[in-house]
Amino acid sequence: MSNKIAVLPGDGIGQEIVAEAVKVLECLKSDFGLAVEMEGGLVGGSAYDASGTPLPEDTLKLSKEADAILLGAVGGYQWESLDIAVRPEKGLLGLRAELELFSNLRPAILYPQLADASTLKAEVVSGLDLMIVRELTGGIYFGQPRGVRTLESGERQGYNTLVYAEHEIERIGRSAFDIAMKRDKRVTSVDKANVLECTELWREVMERVAKDYPEVKLSHMYVDNAAMQLVRAPKQFDVMVTTNMFGDILSDCAAMLTGSIGMLPSASLDANGKGMYEPIHGSAPDIAGQNVANPLATILSVSMMLRYSLDQVEMADKIDQAVNQVLDNGLRTTDIHSEGMQAVSCSAMGDAVVAALRG
Ligand code: NAD
Repeated sequence: MSNKIAVLPGDGIGQEIVAEAVKVLECLKSDFGLAVEMEGGLVGGSAYDASGTPLPEDTLKLSKEADAILLGAVGGYQWESLDIAVRPEKGLLGLRAELELFSNLRPAILYPQLADASTLKAEVVSGLDLMIVRELTGGIYFGQPRGVRTLESGERQGYNTLVYAEHEIERIGRSAFDIAMKRDKRVTSVDKANVLECTELWREVMERVAKDYPEVKLSHMYVDNAAMQLVRAPKQFDVMVTTNMFGDILSDCAAMLTGSIGMLPSASLDANGKGMYEPIHGSAPDIAGQNVANPLATILSVSMMLRYSLDQVEMADKIDQAVNQVLDNGLRTTDIHSEGMQAVSCSAMGDAVVAALRG
């Protein structure tokens, strides 16, 4: 039976990078028998221009019916003055909410060939392969009550609430442990259990979940220490699981360890492993339409999709090897270019990955 992939390029460079990822999928279909069907849809600013909403009904329907979603990026200067309710980003947030994508996977991988791109010493980061699992639909970003109130003294006070129910902690914990089982079988749970009762419960539930995964080694770390360790010795980590806000901050920090935003994929999964896959970068309006964007983050997002949603681990490995091959061959888009390397366009990079797949 073939799997259905909803293909949503979005805006800006989204169109260009997703076209290259589709080339890779087409190659896996024609040459290696991957059984997938693809159907396209509009999201973000381009959807707003076409239909007055960043998340049209037919895109939502397509995304709900699909087994996985491949997304480019949304946003651009021309939509910045729109009412917040119809801005391109609402399309993305709407998809995450409607599909209940609570588990955000943000790998930070530094290919040895690109170790010089990091601001950290090459020996600290070369070969880095870490996965941050961030809770995406709960915690302080969503907790009630929230707002700004006026105190009796007349002074205003802002407040938010950090809340996690046991089932929310348990499901993100399971997500992290399941991923660790496909990796080096180590989970570091990051909290602030010495200060926040909510994360004391977080720690307790993680311990409980760990009992179902005897092969996985669980450790705990306070978030302040985790931030230090990420820049001191990031290779000590395999899978890191944490709350929405801590994950927001730590995953951007981890991404920057690699120094190359155009290389990093991401996934957001629901409870059944269905997911939306996208590069971590935005729509890069400054370089859109110039055929210079790096498509590798999007191509690696396809690899994650095959690994985590479609159970096609061998196909995912093929993509990872092909990307390694083109980097070994010295091909670089401008964002990762360095002296002595061959500068290539977005489409030439996609073609090179396809050629490497074909051997
Ligand atoms: P951005 O990630 O789009 O760009 C930041 C810088 O990185 C730019 O200089 C850009 O040229 C470069 N860059 C990004 N991706 C690249 C790639 N694949 N290859 C080469 N260079 C690349 O972030 P921004 O400039 O802050 O935001 C631009 C638009 O994207 C905004 O409208 C923002 O809201 C939106 N955005 C969308 C998403 C998303 O769709 N998930 C995420 C972040 C930002």
